[in-house]
Amino acid sequence: MTFAEYIWLDGAEPISELRSKTRFFKPAGKAIKLSDFPEWSYDGSSTNQADGSDSDCLLQPVAFSKDPIRGDGNYLVMCEVFRPDGAPHETNTRSKLRAILNAGAQSEDPWIGFEQEYTLIDGARPLGFPEHGYPAPQGPYYCAIGADRAFGRDIAERHAALCEQAGLVFYGLNAEVMPGQWEFQIGYRGIAEDDASALNIADHLWIARWLLHRVAEDAGVLVSFDNKPVKGDWNGAGMHTNFSTSRMRSANGGLEAIERAVSRLAHSHDDHIALYGDRLHERLTGLHETCSISEFRSGAGDRGASIRIPLGVAMKGAGYFEDRRPGANADPYLVAARLAATVCEIDDAILRFGDTNHKAAA
Ligand code: ADP
Ligand code: MN
Ligand code: MN
Ligand code: MN
Repeated sequence: MTFAEYIWLDGAEPISELRSKTRFFKPAGKAIKLSDFPEWSYDGSSTNQADGSDSDCLLQPVAFSKDPIRGDGNYLVMCEVFRPDGAPHETNTRSKLRAILNAGAQSEDPWIGFEQEYTLIDGARPLGFPEHGYPAPQGPYYCAIGADRAFGRDIAERHAALCEQAGLVFYGLNAEVMPGQWEFQIGYRGIAEDDASALNIADHLWIARWLLHRVAEDAGVLVSFDNKPVKGDWNGAGMHTNFSTSRMRSANGGLEAIERAVSRLAHSHDDHIALYGDRLHERLTGLHETCSISEFRSGAGDRGASIRIPLGVAMKGAGYFEDRRPGANADPYLVAARLAATVCEIDDAILRFGDTNHKAAA
């Protein structure tokens, strides 16, 4: 038997969450294509996306990978959500990224790399936190090894293996600054066959998040993408976003293109903050390797800046920049769309929202 797991984003406030359901899948031929996966629908009144009286939402398959959990012949299918009248649902943030790319950003071939931080929660506290009080202060946990400082590696490792087997553009992983906190990266790896385009990498990040929840579920542990899971003198969790255009990657004028991009970012700081995740102010305090939410700073090799130009990029004179502002719970479709719109100077009306992160203003 083979199955397709259809995955989509719901209407949770203030940030969409993942949902999925399964259908039997009989491949048409040997080489599976996107069009082999039929459209489907679900009850939008149960996902905060429709009223009970007219509750069908449509699932349009837009990307797929192998399903490494069910094994050979099974698939994970990322979907966009549409209304019954065929218009993208207002929570369909991927359609907004498509619109920005189609409006001109695509001609600059934007590549992305996301660094997704997360915290494993066991009961009421992060893995590695004692039942009462706190563990020893931060310092030894980042990139650590050993049972007294690395907590949850089995989950992080199993997740990495599954991403690899699914064929995602999985770059790497590391233990983070707070106990129970980890990071994985999805994005450009310097491999010619990879598709590091904004849309593909954002799709892969959502599939990778789904796999992480799935693995942790088996282990009876929760995955939190909260930006500040533990208040006080503990690092928050972010989603640093590395971004480049063909001009920025060019040995001919790359660094100048990066500097132009940074000055455009300096002028649109608030528009970016608005789409970079829920309760971001708790994380962007100016402490714990962040720049204050009310400030914009850029610098080569500066991990206290909003935008960091990696030292290697500054030395080489070409490459990419790192936007350190997005929080761990940000929507990669919106972060990618916002960056592409600002850097490539695309009309951003479609990214201006009402009072939530994903719903367009009426
Ligand atoms: P950090 O030093 O900030 O922890 P990581 O090693 O965690 O950085 O991640 C580096 C990220 O940079 C990866 O996600 C990778 O895909 C991304 N990256 C590298 N080169 C480029 C590029 N030219 N364009 C976009 N992203 C890139
Ligand atoms: Mn990193
Ligand atoms: Mn990190
Ligand atoms: Mn980083």
